[in-house]
This record gives sequence, C-alpha cells and structure tokens, in this order.
Amino acid sequence: MSRAYNFSPGPAMLPEPVLRQAQATLLEYADAGASILEISHRGPEFLAVARQAEADLRTLLAIPDDYAVLFTAGGATTVQALLPLNFAAPGQPCDYVISGHWGKTALKQAAPCVDARIAASSEDGGFRDLPPRAQWRLSPEAAYVHVTANETIHGVEWRAIPEAGEVPLVADFSSSIASEPLDVTRFGVIYAGAQKNLGPVGITVVIVRRDLLERAGQARAPILDYRAQLAAESMLNTPPSWNWYVLGLTVRWMLDEGGVAEFARRNARKAALLYAAIDGSGGFYRNEVAPAARSRMNVPFFLHDPALDALFLAEAKQAGLIGLKGHRVLGGMRASLYNAMPEAGVQALVEFMREFQVRHG
Ligand code: PMP
Repeated sequence: MSRAYNFSPGPAMLPEPVLRQAQATLLEYADAGASILEISHRGPEFLAVARQAEADLRTLLAIPDDYAVLFTAGGATTVQALLPLNFAAPGQPCDYVISGHWGKTALKQAAPCVDARIAASSEDGGFRDLPPRAQWRLSPEAAYVHVTANETIHGVEWRAIPEAGEVPLVADFSSSIASEPLDVTRFGVIYAGAQKNLGPVGITVVIVRRDLLERAGQARAPILDYRAQLAAESMLNTPPSWNWYVLGLTVRWMLDEGGVAEFARRNARKAALLYAAIDGSGGFYRNEVAPAARSRMNVPFFLHDPALDALFLAEAKQAGLIGLKGHRVLGGMRASLYNAMPEAGVQALVEFMREFQVRHG
C-alpha cells in the first residue's frame, strides 16, 4: 500500500522527506559507526544534533535569547502537571481559561498542587466558541494564566490570544505551534508536544521566559525541575534522543519550505477549502464551531446522518484518506491539517466528500 493522506490528530503525518532522511540514517548516522538510536546522548554526534535542533527551532519561531528552550519527555500532559510545581507557590491561585478538552486537562493536572481556578469557560456552550476576554475573571495574585491556543478535539482556536495584564500567560500550543508567526514575547511559557507540527511523539518543547525559572515553585525532585533541566541542557537523564533527532529534521524541513510565514499561508488555504466544502454541502456535513473561533488545524465535522459514519470512514480509506475518525468525546469526523499535510491532501478530501455526498445524499 502506498502512503495515504493522513488526517490523524497526533501522532500525525510527517513530511515524507523527513521520514526518508530518518530512514537513510537509521542504520548508520554520519560516521558514528552506529545508528543514532545506539549512541550516547553525551557524545559529540548527538550533542550536535540536539544543539542544532534548538538553534533551528529558535530561528523558526523567532525565540529571543531571554527565553530558554527545554526538550522534555512525558508529553504535554506532564508539562501541565509541572507548571504549578515550577511556577506557583503551594496553594497560590493559578487561572485557567477553558476553551475545550485540553484546557480541562491542564486544570486537572494542576489542581492537586495549587488553587487552580476557572477564570472563564465556554463549556456551557459545548466548547463551540471561545470565552470572550470581557468574561475572564482573573486573580491579580495568580502565578499565571493558562490558555490553550488551539483545542485539538473541539476545533476551537484563538486567532489572537487576549492580554492577561501583569500575570504571565502560559499557553498550550501543542496543536498549532509553528503553524503561523508567533510573538513569543507575549508569553511567559509556551509548550507543545511534538507529535502534531514538530515531528514525532515522545518529545515536548517548553519555551520559558528565563526570569520565571527564578521562581521558587514547590518542593520537587530535580528531574521535575525546569531550572535543573536547563542547567543540564535537558539531559538530566537520558533524553528521547531519536525523537529529538526527528524533531530536528522536521524543524529543518519547515525552514527549508519557507518557515512559519509560508505555512501560515498554506494552512489558511487548506482550512478555507475544507470549511467551504462543509458549509457548502447544504447540511450534509456540518461544523458547529462559531466561524471566528474555527481552528485552522483541526476541523471536526459531522455527517447529517451518523448511520453513514462507518461507511464514510471505510470509503475514505479506500480513497487513500485515513485518520478521519472523530475523537470519542465528540464523535463524527475530524480532519487535522498540520503543516505536513499538503494542499493536495485537502483537495483530495474535499473531492471525496463531494462524491460521497452524491452517492449517499
Ligand atoms: N494539549 C493539547 C492541545 C493536545 O492536543 C494534546 C494531545 N492531543 C495534549 C495537550 C496532551 O498531549 P500528550 O499526549 O503529549 O500529553
């Protein structure tokens, strides 16, 4: 079978040139005499890979020097658990703006250690819109305000994350990092699991304004301490070196393709194409998110008759389109359109959806 267009939410489609490069170096990396999977993370070959990945990520995202970049294991969820330990005092308020499933997860992970407060939530409306800034109830003494830039399941994205005043903004960019230009300086912390836009699962990027690393936080083991991780170049223990390597290849690929400005243009065109197909289907397909809050990365949609769902997925697979099953929280379908998804993939999906409607409408 040839490679399909993969709309999976993550782990997600990787650029074919990245996979080919990874494949080519799997047996033997440069002149190391071994695979990168087999060599020490403290040896010169891997240290060069790790440092180049950071340098390239800094270029890609225009990360200023007063921000540290950490590469961690444990996924975005572990970051959510470590935010309060590193940046808040025991019992200190931390504000959470909840715009979907992953905002709730962040709150849940923080709740045991701090006074995690819901500053605003759009749950009453089924997360079909964003909680407007005017409704945020922020605590002036909060350690940080947490937002989810893009809700991967509910398909809701902040197009401009509101200001939070003096309290640092902490943002989960797991499913939209590097999809468009980003002003890092507006944030105290930006974090993202790599398995959507940055490469493979198993590694997470945490971008932290350095002054926040001076906060005492809470009692924690060194391995959970971001200041200690920074001092050890994210190698306090054995890092997920293969994942770090493939992340580096993916970041390099994005730079070679023209960087985030180019991906912003591509992503806008891809999302516009799919939403137009859904909205123009006369109700055969529907997306329920308020238009201004619609995600460019994850497009949940429903068939007018859920009895057709299984057939839709089976025929889509036949047509070389996979990963379209919606998350169990919502049901229906979801197409994830990360940077590695070419415009031709979205055109193929839209074409298939039209044909499916003709056959079954
Ligand atoms: N935040 C967001 C926005 C996500 O999409 C996900 C995973 N889909 C997570 C957090 C959790 O990430 P992980 O599985 O890497 O812990």
